[in-house]
Amino acid sequence: MTSPLILVTNDDGINAPGLALLANAMMDLGEVYVFAPDRQQSAVGHGVSLHKPLRVSRLKDHWFMVDGTPTDCVMLAVRSLIGRRPDLVVSGINTGANLGDDVTYSGTVAGAFEGMLLGVPSFAISNTSHRPQHLEAAARFAPKLGRYILEHGLPEDTALNVNLPDIPYEALQGVEITRMGRRNYQDEIVRREDPRGGTYYWIGGAEPDHVIESGTDFEAIENKKISITPLHRDLTHHAVLHRFFEPRIGL
Ligand code: MN
Repeated sequence: MTSPLILVTNDDGINAPGLALLANAMMDLGEVYVFAPDRQQSAVGHGVSLHKPLRVSRLKDHWFMVDGTPTDCVMLAVRSLIGRRPDLVVSGINTGANLGDDVTYSGTVAGAFEGMLLGVPSFAISNTSHRPQHLEAAARFAPKLGRYILEHGLPEDTALNVNLPDIPYEALQGVEITRMGRRNYQDEIVRREDPRGGTYYWIGGAEPDHVIESGTDFEAIENKKISITPLHRDLTHHAVLHRFFEPRIGL
């Protein structure tokens, strides 16, 4: 049997320490290719570059830099450049949480989501700290999860969103399968003046809060556990599909 082919991407950019750690860790499982953005692409979501050409630079053997989004990276790698279908796509190790509603903004999660859309088992992995001290814990867990997925597969149309608290591997209290929690974003819009008198705006600043609910990714992280949330391809709200709009809205 040929050895598994693993595609690694991220949204923090090709120079992010989490990317190299992840790529090295995944080499235990097979042949690793890295396709990553040339710069910080956090919070670009599932964006695709449709209106500009994409340049790919080979940095060293198996390492490629793309001037696009994480989704661009996965698309180019899987659909064209690797030349062989990967057995696994892993996105990360992200610096900063991808918990609750963060998922919809996350370029890291989008990288895994794109892998799933292309029919490849995929997961995203993040350390919840913006100044992580223990990225190596995620680098230890990722190949473990990867091996499990290569052996057992993932359910159809499912990608995993993995988060780790920023603590040493030995201090982790277990692994929990969780549901997405909810954020309270309190991003202030900062309004400032540039040196030439023009106005500019900056979104964000404050660390977002969250709603405390049991069974959520937030709860697992608070309990010093690894959170694994299975994400489904289908975003339809099935519970309201046939009872909400149909009787009230016609032509
Ligand atoms: Mn990021």
